[in-house]
Amino acid sequence: MSFYRERLPEGGLRSLDEVGSLPFTTKEDFRANYPFGLFAVPREEVVRLHMSSGTTGRPVVTGYTRHDLELWAECMVRVMEYAGVTSRDVVQNAYGYGLFTGGMGLHLGAEAVGATVVPTSSGVTQRQVMLMRDLGTTVLCCTPSYALVLAEALRGLEGREGVRLRVGIFGAEPWSDGLRGQIQTHLGLEAFDIYGLTELGGPGVAAECSRHEGLHIFEDHFYAEVVDPDTGTPLQEGRPGELVLTSLRREASPVLRYRTRDRTVLTSEPCACGSPYRRFLRVQGRTDDMLVVRGENVFPSQFEELLAGFAGFNGQYILVVDRQAHSLDTLEVRLEADTADEQRLEQEIRDRIRDSIGLTVTAKVLRPGVLPRSEGKAKRVVDHREAVGTP
Ligand SMILES: [Zn+2]
Repeated sequence: MSFYRERLPEGGLRSLDEVGSLPFTTKEDFRANYPFGLFAVPREEVVRLHMSSGTTGRPVVTGYTRHDLELWAECMVRVMEYAGVTSRDVVQNAYGYGLFTGGMGLHLGAEAVGATVVPTSSGVTQRQVMLMRDLGTTVLCCTPSYALVLAEALRGLEGREGVRLRVGIFGAEPWSDGLRGQIQTHLGLEAFDIYGLTELGGPGVAAECSRHEGLHIFEDHFYAEVVDPDTGTPLQEGRPGELVLTSLRREASPVLRYRTRDRTVLTSEPCACGSPYRRFLRVQGRTDDMLVVRGENVFPSQFEELLAGFAGFNGQYILVVDRQAHSLDTLEVRLEADTADEQRLEQEIRDRIRDSIGLTVTAKVLRPGVLPRSEGKAKRVVDHREAVGTP
């Protein structure tokens, strides 16, 4: 319980402007203080734990008091309202239930607005499609990667006949507007982006409204800054940088100035929806996901956006980065597409990437169904460079 006490000034803060002078909290702080070192209440007051395993190291643990769960529900209700979900809706929640915050978080919100919740959790795709039809699902909640998988399954099974989807609430990974277009077309719904992270208690930090021009940050619960990712200096609004979040009301796991690693831009331009909350533009990518190829910084979402413009592309792709000993990095874009002329498509993709991203790559068109599908967050980058050692 001493972690934050040591970081806060004697007597506390007098205004939110003083937040910018406090030290940052990082993922490493969560790992180093695993499991309860960052908690601010006695364990007896904690009624729920969630965590994200990540791929390496110790899990990130977050806790909730009874009051925290009420606050979480309040935020998740707002997420639902921004997407126009009401008690008339049937919400199929295909986010994973369990330690992951996604399943239980969306469940809280959907139930609180009075919708009929179908807690399918992720996976068992054929059953998801069956229930979607049988129960008259109108709202689908899952990762955008899994939405793509469901769209594909639907196409294989009599198409959208008898499907009543109208809204999709998708988050937990960065996704491009190109992918949004594909998901909307194939599932026949309006897709809403949501934002949250385990360190801040899960989804319900920010959400898109019906204008789809950035995500409104729920500023009565979270204080947002954008900082220079290299120096940590707070940036003026409108300048791109790393999103830093401070929780204002959480009791069990409050967080001071969390370095999210997400790249975005903040704006206080009023939104036509009338929301009082500032927006950040859709997350371009995580600093962790950023690829450095031959000295160029690129995000998988840039490739995704570009590929989505090609007819026949079904949304499934991976980026394979390699380096031969003593030679330059190579990047191959492997994608699934339905096309009569693979070589021509490969050439077009190579040209388009060179012209708009500025990288020389190779492209490999694969038959639909070859690449592994994801029920949660998709793995879009395969980096073989570590194997041969980095200079
Ligand atoms: Zn708005």
